[in-house]
Amino acid sequence: MQRVCEKLKTHWGYETFRPLQREAMQCALSRQDCVVVLPTGGGKSLCYQAPATVLPGLSVVVSPLISLMKDQVDALVDYGIPAARLDSSQPREEQSAIQQEVAAGRLKLLYVSPERLVTPGFRQLLDHTELAMIAVDEAHCVSMWGHDFRPEYRQLGLLRKLYPEVGIHAFTATATEQVRHDIAEQLHLRKPAMLVGSFDRPNLVYRVHRRTNWVQQICNELEKHPSESGIVYCIRRADVESLCEQLSQRGYRVAPYHAGMTPEQRKRNQDAFINEQVDTIVATVAFGMGIDKSNVRYVVHAAMPKSLEHYQQESGRAGRDSLEADCTLLYSGGDFGLWKSMLRDMPEEAYDAAVAKLNEMYNFCTSAVCRRHSILNHFGQQPAEENCQACDVCLDELDVLDDALVTAQKILSNVVRVDQRFGAEHNALVLVGSKEKRIAQYGHDKLSTYGLLSHFNKNAVRDWIEQLAGQGYIERVGEYQTLAVTNAGWRVLRGEETPRLLRPAETKGKKARTDRASAESWEGVDRGLFEHLRELRRELAAEHGLPAYIVFGDAALRDMARRRPTNLTNFLEVSGVGQKKCEQYGEAMTAAIAEYCATNDIVTDIAAPAVAVQPPNIPVARVATRATQSAAFEKACRLFAEERPIEEVARLIERAVSTTHQYLAQFLADDGRSTPVPWVDAKTFAHVEAALEEMPDGRLKPLFDHLEGEISYDTLRLCAACFGNRDM
Ligand code: ADP
Ligand code: ZN
Repeated sequence: MQRVCEKLKTHWGYETFRPLQREAMQCALSRQDCVVVLPTGGGKSLCYQAPATVLPGLSVVVSPLISLMKDQVDALVDYGIPAARLDSSQPREEQSAIQQEVAAGRLKLLYVSPERLVTPGFRQLLDHTELAMIAVDEAHCVSMWGHDFRPEYRQLGLLRKLYPEVGIHAFTATATEQVRHDIAEQLHLRKPAMLVGSFDRPNLVYRVHRRTNWVQQICNELEKHPSESGIVYCIRRADVESLCEQLSQRGYRVAPYHAGMTPEQRKRNQDAFINEQVDTIVATVAFGMGIDKSNVRYVVHAAMPKSLEHYQQESGRAGRDSLEADCTLLYSGGDFGLWKSMLRDMPEEAYDAAVAKLNEMYNFCTSAVCRRHSILNHFGQQPAEENCQACDVCLDELDVLDDALVTAQKILSNVVRVDQRFGAEHNALVLVGSKEKRIAQYGHDKLSTYGLLSHFNKNAVRDWIEQLAGQGYIERVGEYQTLAVTNAGWRVLRGEETPRLLRPAETKGKKARTDRASAESWEGVDRGLFEHLRELRRELAAEHGLPAYIVFGDAALRDMARRRPTNLTNFLEVSGVGQKKCEQYGEAMTAAIAEYCATNDIVTDIAAPAVAVQPPNIPVARVATRATQSAAFEKACRLFAEERPIEEVARLIERAVSTTHQYLAQFLADDGRSTPVPWVDAKTFAHVEAALEEMPDGRLKPLFDHLEGEISYDTLRLCAACFGNRDM
């Protein structure tokens, strides 16, 4: 184990284990069969890769997809570990060259497909090789109960007999107990250790919105992540295409991906995404399996997925590097109907089960319960904390309505008054007292419920209707999806039951709170330097013919922008930098850091604690960093209240000027200030204000361009924070 730790430091540049990694590695070292269940991004690959570097002989890794194997092997080689893959896509000469490497005992890790592993030729090769272990990646593929059964995985059941001496270790992110046991059984594992981690992904921030203007809503998400990677999922190909077109018209770098495209087109777009030539991939769920890209910063569902399992899996593609990432889901009642019609051809029993899953999903969307709680409960686990601080419910972005009962009664009685013969839109229009002709045509302007909710806008009422449907008080009937009151709904009308209704938070004067995940992972990071290094990473990656995230993960890059090392000794202290990375890229990175910091007058070579990569599920550590974060922020706020200059505050709170700017923007917004003077001079603010009048959606990039780059982003951010606080 001692040697494994050394390797972890010298090759990978890591000093600590993630939960269960140590236990899994111990199994590998002692040849004890095991099933390891960790969520995406939990660090499964290291569990076998690190022991493989110290065990004598060759470790064989079974993996279902060529793209996954390629990624892993590229990454290992870049860490300086002798690894290769054997698959049918390689030319014959390449295959025999690798076989020779194996025979000569020069490799530590070999990735193969399941078909390959059981062929006589390959068995012969292994018979003459010392085997260290067999690792089965994506092991749920062996189980019929999993979501991704692959018949060729079944042959792996032979392994236990063929190689009685070695340990077999199975890895999966699939949660259910049934699948877990099936894996052990199908692989004939010997008294396997079951290592099951928490499914919580603390770095993912979950938000759910009802879909109103989807293109605008999706743009808002993209705006939060300029030039960062993300995925937008749609249900249908046609939606993929139309959305893609509209987004590229607005200047976003996007590419489509769906099953109707040729394999070549798909491959081209996937590569463009991986190599960061496009930022956003707009896709059907056909996209994702086999994508190991670690720095996906957002996953947007343009429509509701068909089950919570799918949601967990698809949203889980964000933030594999453990840094904060946004998972935003847009839904509407229509999605439910669309899925239902797509499932229609299923056999009856399967259909009922699928509709039950749809119902669960819809309830998730419309409920006001912590999103993380809902997901974990679904998988039979308990969250560590009551308030997760990283979902729209816990961040208080949604308010629970105080008089939910009365409001629900108004809506339900309206449904009854229109004889349960109209859809959600019409009901909402009546309730807000719309002057539209069709309302009067039906005489609905004469109803006692007409205009009962006229002090709300139609969208709010539509939201409540969805929420009531989600909680089973209203159902949709027939082809026209007319609303009807259910038995439970009648209980509400009689006042025997109270539904829960949400009100979208007032946006004016109340700025969104920073979620826990980003507060932590950006702590102490100089954002300008981070962006600068990201650019350099892109160049280095192109030079070496590797995806950018394999050269350095975002976590390593942030730690560089936090510690700002200008020499190789300090560079090696960065989390995620091992010897080989240091040799390959150290010179270029440290030189760029030194130059940038000199130009921008930023302190270098800080011995910062590595807070970047928070091991998931260790609440104690989390609380500690949160406390320091808020301490610095609170101190900054006291100094801002005395109107001290930014540079001075930065020095006093020992944070980068860029971080201090963010604190100030937050302070201005929270404090309800309508002017950023004295930090921005009045003339500049007036200038920006005039521009903001023209483009009030608060997007910084267009504003920056509109002002022809004359005013820095930092200043724009301060102005925008105050603009939101003005009395209108
Ligand atoms: P999984 O296969 O479980 O989805 P990975 O093995 O791809 O997860 O790991 C996810 C990310 O976490 C990778 O960027 C990896 O380098 C990083 N990582 C894994 N283990 C550690 C560790 N002990 N310390 C820091 N980072 C780690
Ligand atoms: Zn929550």
